[in-house]
Amino acid sequence: MNSQSICTLCNRNENEDLIHLLLYCPIYGPIREHYLSELNINENNINELLITKSKYHLNKLYFYITELLKLRSFIVNE
Ligand SMILES: [Zn+2]
Repeated sequence: MNSQSICTLCNRNENEDLIHLLLYCPIYGPIREHYLSELNINENNINELLITKSKYHLNKLYFYITELLKLRSFIVNE
């Protein structure tokens, strides 16, 4: 994953960085909804979330990223 490259999975023409993956890429919409909807994550609180001491929130984030990478490699390898 190169943080300087444009996300090729969607058409938003944004860099494929953490913010894009966590918040914006529509490809991951369903799993984002599933894991992150109750966290109310946005660009303003994302820093707090990433340093949260809540194991519950960290696990949500962990599962989201795990599922995201699985889906991503599935799509990219097609
Ligand atoms: Zn994208």
